[in-house]
Amino acid sequence: MINSPIKILIVEDDRISARILEHHIKEWGYETLLVYDGEKAWQIFETDPPEMALLDWMIPGINGLELCRRVRLKTKTKESDYIYIILLTARDERSDLIQGLNAGADDYVTKPFDLLELKARLNTGRRIIELQRLLKKEATFDWLTGLLNRRSILEQAEKEYLRSKRENKPLGLILIDIDDFKKINDSFGHYGGDVILAEVSHRLQKKIRAYDKIGRYGGDEILVIVPNCNHAELEKIADRLRHSIQAKPIIFNNQSLTITISAGGVSNENNSPFSIAELINFCDHALFQAKKLGRNRTFIIESIILNERR
Ligand code: GH3
Ligand code: MG
Repeated sequence: MINSPIKILIVEDDRISARILEHHIKEWGYETLLVYDGEKAWQIFETDPPEMALLDWMIPGINGLELCRRVRLKTKTKESDYIYIILLTARDERSDLIQGLNAGADDYVTKPFDLLELKARLNTGRRIIELQRLLKKEATFDWLTGLLNRRSILEQAEKEYLRSKRENKPLGLILIDIDDFKKINDSFGHYGGDVILAEVSHRLQKKIRAYDKIGRYGGDEILVIVPNCNHAELEKIADRLRHSIQAKPIIFNNQSLTITISAGGVSNENNSPFSIAELINFCDHALFQAKKLGRNRTFIIESIILNERR
């Protein structure tokens, strides 16, 4: 995502200039989407918004100026990414320029335009979008482990929980904690601990399925969300994850270290009365049991059984 080409929506009703524009913009390394009227453009802003937009002012349907206003209004009321907008127009009065910027355009190019100027102006937008991508990445991922950070994994947990209810499917949650991590820190220093935590995370991430989610829940705790997974399967998955850590020693400072983890999980039936917060809490209890039983083991509880005990 961070290195993929920036997506630009081009809205221009003159088909010949639109195609020429698209050709050059593609050549400059952007991904383009071309539409010829305002209605179609607005549909795209609503369903699959681009990162940048090049809007002709005078187009059939909703004009470029109005599109600008709508986009800004929408991003004000709904959490969404910033769209860098360049207005393209034959109107070159100072008052037009002011009107365009006031409607929410970031920049303004008058026709007939110079290709090199357009390229340079797109570059300004590119810098902003790249910065936005970087901020988004930093806000989503944990810098040390590369996993989703606490906020993001909790968001995903909530999302998958709602989906499991909607689709009538079970949901599995596994909370993993490194065994005796304090001792690792004591023996190898905090930096050594960091290296080991990062390697453990990396191995776990490689082992999960494409539609599972994994994030750093805090300290040495990692939360894995396993959609559509019943009790027996969840136990297998958790054991597989545990095995991926124990099976191969981690090398640090030329020393070969066998690290183990404990896993506590809950498999939730879609019709259980528990909230996602309660389910994560059950994982915590299950993890505590796994530690109490001697560490390096899996302890999974079923929400059905918890419900019966209520
Ligand atoms: P247990 O088997 O019961 O889990 O024992 P433990 O020693 O792992 O205890 P616990 O999980 O409670 O402690 C986790 C330790 O992880 C405490 C904290 O100092 C350390 N820690 C938390 N975050 C980081 C980090 O980012 N880097 C390093 N190196 N250590 C961390
Ligand atoms: Mg621990």
